[in-house]
Amino acid sequence: MEQTSFTPITTDLRRRINRALGDDCEIADPQALADYDHDASELRHAPEMVVRVHNREQVQELLRLANQYNFPVTPRSGGTGLAGGCLSTCGGVVLDLSGMNRILAIDTRNLVAEVQPGVITQQLREAAREAGLFYPPDPASLDESTVGGNAATNAGGPACVKYGTTKDYVLGLEVVLPNGECIRTGVKTRKGVVGYDMTHLIVGSEGTLGIITALTLKLIPHPPAVTGVVAVFKDLETAMDAVAQVMTRGHLPSAIEFLDYKCLALVGDRLPFNVPGGTSSLLIIETDGVAGNITDEIDAIGRICREVGAVHLHPATAPDERERIWEARRQVSLRIHDHAALYVSEDVAVPLGCIAELVARLPEYEQKYHLEIFAFGHAGDGNIHLNITAADRDHPERVEEAIRALLQLVLDMGGTISGEHGIGAAKKRFLPMELPAESIRLQRGIKMLFDPNQVLNPGKLFPNT
Ligand SMILES: Cc1cc2nc3c(=O)[nH]c(=O)nc-3n(C[C@H](O)[C@H](O)[C@H](O)COP(=O)(O)OP(=O)(O)OC[C@H]3O[C@@H](n4cnc5c(N)ncnc54)[C@H](O)[C@@H]3O)c2cc1C
Repeated sequence: MEQTSFTPITTDLRRRINRALGDDCEIADPQALADYDHDASELRHAPEMVVRVHNREQVQELLRLANQYNFPVTPRSGGTGLAGGCLSTCGGVVLDLSGMNRILAIDTRNLVAEVQPGVITQQLREAAREAGLFYPPDPASLDESTVGGNAATNAGGPACVKYGTTKDYVLGLEVVLPNGECIRTGVKTRKGVVGYDMTHLIVGSEGTLGIITALTLKLIPHPPAVTGVVAVFKDLETAMDAVAQVMTRGHLPSAIEFLDYKCLALVGDRLPFNVPGGTSSLLIIETDGVAGNITDEIDAIGRICREVGAVHLHPATAPDERERIWEARRQVSLRIHDHAALYVSEDVAVPLGCIAELVARLPEYEQKYHLEIFAFGHAGDGNIHLNITAADRDHPERVEEAIRALLQLVLDMGGTISGEHGIGAAKKRFLPMELPAESIRLQRGIKMLFDPNQVLNPGKLFPNT
């Protein structure tokens, strides 16, 4: 499966696309178009043409034309991806699905939601909440990213440790295939094992196998209450000991996040207590459930943290207090961004027992490659955001070497090179580091079966495409 050459979007082709989809679908205003040359990664690529659609039939029509005239189509929803997955790196048409943004039903009897792909994740969570139900996936981008994009990338977030990732809530999908046909995958029931699990093949496929045009999502009863505690430790190793103790002594927090000392120094001013300096590291722990029970549970977790060596415990019980702490946590990436000329975010995951070891090894790599690395993330599922920064952009080859060395370290620990952000265009060159050649060959075969003309989101996932 080598790189295919595609037909440029000529004036005639543009006219045909407009005629087939409807004249108001093309986004031609230069200011509006500027949004489409980037996502939240460092990559930039200006599209040849952008269309915003409002129904499945338009998606089908576009893909039929793509096969007929040999141009690529790149799906895009919230544009918050961190791997360049929604950029039209091989040219062609960017297909904006953000206009398909209706919540079709919140079915309180069967505990499911029927939604279009462009629904913003937070809006679905709020609609479910109003019905007394809970849609747990909570990527930090939830007020901008969409359920379609979340499904395409199998997004996770702090709640993942207790509730799992987006895939655990996708029961069924409506998918437009690369040839323009439409299929329904999965079920509307809690269980279903008929045939191959097409739903979970599409989920996480980063828009390379099909375009999600509707989703049936599982909802669960909303936990009646949430409470939390922030625990500060003298170093990250002690903090990670606490995580292991909390989880092996029968507690399953609804979030357990960590910040290393560098991140803590960056956002300490946003926290409602004085942050000790040095190598102090922090855990944000929350539990949810029945009010009385969770108060007892968070007290027990606090006691475990003290036993292990927490130097400070800050209760986070009131909603505004909790929100202040989460706001500080969300500020971390932004402040790292402001702090450095070059910023590369890797979202590796390692076995829980290796988090502290991985972070302890970072200074070695900082010195060797003249970089500064900030680490924070989801302590409960080993997903560490390694934010690799450099004071200038003058030595890209050194940064590349450092990234490869760090990813190899992660793999040697039994980890993975991406816990949630995906591969897209940004990391496809690293795919062979993790996947054996046989697996890549099989996956390329699946791609070719779905998309023999390679018109759907080419140039993603696989190296040399
Ligand atoms: C501040 C910030 C915080 C973030 N935090 C998290 C986090 O905690 N957890 C996490 O997992 N990610 C996180 N991300 C990354 C990003 O938000 C997720 O990958 C998200 O799921 C992307 O959704 P989107 O709607 O923005 O998709 P886009 O960026 O538009 O697209 C992402 C990928 O999905 C494909 N795609 C989009 N819509 C469809 C569709 N309908 N059908 C088929 N394919 C489609 C695109 O082609 C692309 O490959 C964060 C990003 C930012 C900027």
